[in-house]
Amino acid sequence: MPKLLVVDDEHDICDFVRNFFNERGYTVQTAGSGDEALSIVKENRPDLILLDIKMKGMDGIAVLKHIKTFDKNIKVIMVSALEDQEKMDEACRLGACNYITKPLALDNLEHAVEKMFKV
Ligand SMILES: [Mg+2]
Repeated sequence: MPKLLVVDDEHDICDFVRNFFNERGYTVQTAGSGDEALSIVKENRPDLILLDIKMKGMDGIAVLKHIKTFDKNIKVIMVSALEDQEKMDEACRLGACNYITKPLALDNLEHAVEKMFKV
């Protein structure tokens, strides 16, 4: 099964998303900061990352740059609020596959993730 990494500085969101995808058979790791995310990426090379844009310290855009420098084949879906449209556009230019908006709707989330693994 694909390996997911959920990156969000809100613990509740990490737990919620991890439980949701665990139940669907995915292996899920979580990170509460950009630094933590990057060390997991280097150790474990996830197939897909759900990456919060707005985080304390390193934000999602900076994390995305590092991820894509490390391995441009890792798929990244950005997660943010609607008002961050400019950041979303920047993320697309940097190679993010897609984005989903908060508050997270489970069917959107599932659809966005499954779409990444369709042959
Ligand atoms: Mg956040």
